[in-house]
Amino acid sequence: MTVPALLEAREAPPAWVTLFPMVYERESLRNVQGYLPGKQPLAEQRVVKLNTNENPYPPCAAVMEALARVPADALRRYPPPLADEFRVAAARIHDLVPDQVIAVNGGDELLRLAISTFVEPGHPIGVFEPSYSLYPVLASLQGSPVYALPLASDWSVPDDAAEALNAARVPLTFLVNPHAPSGTLLPVAEVARLAAALDGVLLVDEAYVDFVDPDRAHDATMLVRRFRNVLLLRTLSKGYSLAGLRFGYGLGDVGLITPMLTKTRDSYNVDAVAQRLATVALEHRDEAGRTWQSVRAERARMTASLGGLGFDVASSQSNFVLVTVPPASGQAQTIERALEARGVLVRYFDQPRLRDKLRITIGTPEENDALLAALRTS
Ligand SMILES: *Cc1c(COP(=O)(O)O)cnc(C)c1O
Repeated sequence: MTVPALLEAREAPPAWVTLFPMVYERESLRNVQGYLPGKQPLAEQRVVKLNTNENPYPPCAAVMEALARVPADALRRYPPPLADEFRVAAARIHDLVPDQVIAVNGGDELLRLAISTFVEPGHPIGVFEPSYSLYPVLASLQGSPVYALPLASDWSVPDDAAEALNAARVPLTFLVNPHAPSGTLLPVAEVARLAAALDGVLLVDEAYVDFVDPDRAHDATMLVRRFRNVLLLRTLSKGYSLAGLRFGYGLGDVGLITPMLTKTRDSYNVDAVAQRLATVALEHRDEAGRTWQSVRAERARMTASLGGLGFDVASSQSNFVLVTVPPASGQAQTIERALEARGVLVRYFDQPRLRDKLRITIGTPEENDALLAALRTS
């Protein structure tokens, strides 16, 4: 079967799947729905890709040069098991110590590590709804029920969240901030209030934090120094234009980081090329910072332009916007498909509270113009 055929098979299983169930699969996995990623067209297909929140600009020149200079020995040998050079660089940048840093194979690996380190199988995992749809998938792999708390209508965390999570004895809660898929930002003081009140670990998924307006002076790393139960997730996928490299990291108290470093992590979880390039990327973050600035400028423009087209646009501090489709424009999913037919990919979520919405990644000015043109003629 070709890969696209396999992907389609997930949406509508072919008859043979029910005739011959995959009996070797663990029984508890049979009803697990895997994570459904956004469409990734082949490189040669010319589409305006605004569906998976990638940075529209290339990685910085220093990263590409470091890639060209990878020595053969770096591939022949096993990589530094703990990615020490990267941890030292990240610690310096965040004003922490290397033992408060763990390097991971994409931020997604940190989510999985946090579960296997802090959650006994079968114990509940806290999530706010809606948010990143990988969280419930990972919970089900641990045999853990999801303890879901609905976010308020402005996507903020309800006041009694900690109380409820503590009453349900939730050992680990995922909070994505800036929030996905709305892009709204919870101020650090409110994250601190939640962390202070929680009995369990609070994983703050900061996948999009690089795109926050510098005027907000948003810096959650102070929470790592202040609280023993706060674990921050960072990734190079979005801010640093390195989604293909698979590199992220966690920042937290030594008591949280050490068991992941020494017990639950794969022995060589981040490869030698990724370690080198990630270190260079962080050291040249001013260059990535210029792309963040461009994205912010376009985010402001797109918020205004999409609003002008009649969409209600959530106030975003991320590299995407969540728009609500006005009833007169038809169904969100219909618009998504019409845009796809015009070569523009955006993301529709078939989930409660999101079915009248589209999540649109901020692209280059040209890509954003192409989206606006396609919307005007859809
Ligand atoms: C992109 C993303 C991540 C991490 O992605 P990686 O590519 O695995 O680093 C984590 N959480 C959210 C909400 C994301 O959007």
